[in-house]
Amino acid sequence: MSFPAKKDLEIQLSKLSSFHNPKNSLEQYSTDPVLAAYVINLAFQRGDIQGKNVIDLGTGTGTLSYGALYFECKELTAVEVDEDQRSVLEKNLEKFSNKKLIFGNVASISGTWDTVLCNGPFGSVVKDADLPFLEKAFSLGKVVYLIHNWKAKDFIVSYASRRCTEFSYERRTLNIPRIYGHHEKNRMNIDVLFLVGRI
Ligand code: SAH
Repeated sequence: MSFPAKKDLEIQLSKLSSFHNPKNSLEQYSTDPVLAAYVINLAFQRGDIQGKNVIDLGTGTGTLSYGALYFECKELTAVEVDEDQRSVLEKNLEKFSNKKLIFGNVASISGTWDTVLCNGPFGSVVKDADLPFLEKAFSLGKVVYLIHNWKAKDFIVSYASRRCTEFSYERRTLNIPRIYGHHEKNRMNIDVLFLVGRI
């Protein structure tokens, strides 16, 4: 059986619709296709996507969810607090049927999944908005793929060292709009922490 390549995924992700009236207070910007495809491809290579039950916390426009579905996860659960993104999310994921969309607060989610994908708010606009994501990321699954602000590295690494049997991390680049809500061409790179942890 042949599987889609990372580059194919990048191309598909670049065609997805973006946030509908994005809300700064929720730190709504999508992971760029290059970083998203990198994360999903790595998770796939490590055996954490294909045939697995995957949850995506703070799915937004469904970038990471799309990747998990594209690389043939068993079922994808996507959690998003903002109902205003429902139509964008449904449209972006419309070609997949093995998905469950939950519109609610990540703090209210319970259950067990094989793999957790988490790129939620960094807590840069509303202080501590990232804390419920961290709590859930390390409690809902057997393995977590987490993106956070590189500035929070020491905090996240200390968190992971308490919650994981093993983990690794690296510094990557996230390309986001420079001025929130303005034209896509005006973009900037920020350093992010990408952490993989086994619980
Ligand atoms: N994970 C996506 C989107 C990142 S933006 C991606 O990687 O492309 C962060 C997302 O988290 C936003 O869509 C925002 O609405 C959502 N969010 C913020 N607080 C939330 C909460 N408490 N519960 C669920 N979703 C939340």
